[in-house]
Amino acid sequence: MQKELVWRNLLILSVSLIAFFFVTLFVANYVNRYNQEKELLYVADLFKDELTSVSSQNLSNEVYRLTDGQERYSIVLSDNLGEIKIDGASDHMGEGVLDRLSEKELSGFNESQNMPYVYIADGKMHCMVRFNSDLILRTSIAMVDNSEFIITSTFFLVVVLLVVMVISVMMTNNVSKTVVKTFSNINHHLKTIAGGQYSPISLNEPYPEVAEAYSEMNVVIQNIQSYIQNINAEKNKLDSVINNVGEGIIILDTNGFIVTINEFAKTFSKFSQGQTNHYTDNLKNQRFLTLISKGLTEDYHTDFSTEDGKIYYVSFNHYVSGGDKLVSIVIFDVTAARIEERRRVEFLSNASHELKTPITSISGFSELLASGLINDSDKVKDYANRILTASIGMKATIDDLLYLSRIDNITDQSFKTEPINLADVIADCIANRQVLAENKRVEIVFEPKNVQIIGNRGFLGHMISNLIDNAIKYNVVGGKVIISLGKTEKGVSYLSVEDTGVGIDESHIEFIFDRFYRVDDSRNRATGGTGIGLTICKKIATLHGGDITVESQLEKGTKFTVIFNRNNTLKEDKND
Ligand code: ADP
Repeated sequence: MQKELVWRNLLILSVSLIAFFFVTLFVANYVNRYNQEKELLYVADLFKDELTSVSSQNLSNEVYRLTDGQERYSIVLSDNLGEIKIDGASDHMGEGVLDRLSEKELSGFNESQNMPYVYIADGKMHCMVRFNSDLILRTSIAMVDNSEFIITSTFFLVVVLLVVMVISVMMTNNVSKTVVKTFSNINHHLKTIAGGQYSPISLNEPYPEVAEAYSEMNVVIQNIQSYIQNINAEKNKLDSVINNVGEGIIILDTNGFIVTINEFAKTFSKFSQGQTNHYTDNLKNQRFLTLISKGLTEDYHTDFSTEDGKIYYVSFNHYVSGGDKLVSIVIFDVTAARIEERRRVEFLSNASHELKTPITSISGFSELLASGLINDSDKVKDYANRILTASIGMKATIDDLLYLSRIDNITDQSFKTEPINLADVIADCIANRQVLAENKRVEIVFEPKNVQIIGNRGFLGHMISNLIDNAIKYNVVGGKVIISLGKTEKGVSYLSVEDTGVGIDESHIEFIFDRFYRVDDSRNRATGGTGIGLTICKKIATLHGGDITVESQLEKGTKFTVIFNRNNTLKEDKND
């Protein structure tokens, strides 16, 4: 670039100087000729005046006199046909006398219609004027020789050209060096920006245009920085959302390279950073890898169970984003939902079984009685009792199911509450369970305390009765049921129902409140349970903003504790 700038500059300079030289030559020539013409016209006029003042006999002498000793001027007089009549040079020089004027000269003069006719011929400038009706006066002047001027000018021009060229090369070299340096600086800054470094450029520049360009570049840098900051902030938000959702997310391209993977999915797929980003280099869960190889070719979903007993729903979806073909893998933990589904199926089969057994027995014994074939009054009584027991059992199951459905449908709006004295509710429940307890010779121990809460009397009564029922049902003959009431250290009301019964094995404890869960099905059948009672208790405790917990030891007994929410506990309790 630098060389090109120097060469171009030299070329422009040379062409300009040469053009200037020729223009100067042309102008000098023109001026020279113009001056000579002016001089010639003046001299011709002067000669004409001089010659007109003498008689025709003295005309030749006067011509000789006028041109005598003249180096530059000469005079001839011709007739109208161009024949030379007097030649001032003939006498003076003794040779070179003209015979006649040329036809060209004559026709030129004629065309000028008696005006002075000036022309150049034979290195002289001539001026033809009419002297009188017979004679034409031609005055000639030797042209000034300007060849010396041209040689001198050419010499000067070459010298000037060389000097100017040297100076120009030096100056152009200097300027172009600066320009090239400036461009390479700009290039360097642009490369730095392209490389991702966005530090501002110093504006300390000698040329204001460059400083202005740098200042514009700084604005661009600032904009880029703020775009990057925004993009990073958005990315962080997105990363945080992706990493904190309760599901696993993996995005692969269709060649199997990982685009995104969140923390949940990393744990699930046993992620460990590999050499490449390909999923086979990073995901170590071999069973999951076989799912991915299928999911890379088609959309599909499946349940996937892990060694720890959990069930995940894994879904593969193909989509196109920004022209890239991608596959999203979403992983949900559906363990609870699948267990719930299984329980529902189990429940339906249990419930229909529970209902079918008494109905079969009721219809069987009713048919026998209706046939009139049974005459034995004891048998009739026995069958009637069986029908009664079956109907009571069936009614209990149906009641529980209806109650569960009712409580499942309760909302905050439909949950009606009032101030309740818990001791009163417990005392009522004990009174209703007294016969059951006595039948099993179980003693119920209760020391009333004044604990008041905001709650629903009906639901609380149902919960407490259920706990006392279980404490009697799963107790030993001659056992005890201890009911306590009070406030915790944090001032929260609680009640507990403790028994000295069979207890619950530790392995069952975590499922005890699940719907339709029974510890021992055969024993429950004997005791007439449905597996819904504790689920209802838990739901009622939750409706009151509280919780229910259980502690149990096999063959020693079980203790259920209901803790109420602080907001449900009334401040005007007195006996605590
Ligand atoms: P059920 O109607 O069968 O009693 P629950 O939901 O009330 O249903 O109880 C669920 C299971 O928990 C029962 O089947 C029983 O095995 C066990 N259980 C409940 N309360 C006690 C208790 N006080 N002592 C021992 N086992 C209990």
